[in-house]
Amino acid sequence: MLENVVEFFKNLPDKVCVQCGEKIEEQSECYSSTCEKCNSL
Ligand SMILES: [Zn+2]
Repeated sequence: MLENVVEFFKNLPDKVCVQCGEKIEEQSECYSSTCEKCNSL
C-alpha cells in the first residue's frame, strides 16, 4: 500500500513557484504554490 503512495508522488510533475518559476524542492510542511523565498516576502 505504501509503495503505491510513493509511486504516486514520483509521478507528479516538478512543482514550480508561481511567483518566480523556481523549482520547489522542499515540500515537507508547505503545500503552497510558491517557493520559500517568495513565501517569506
Ligand atoms: Zn519563488
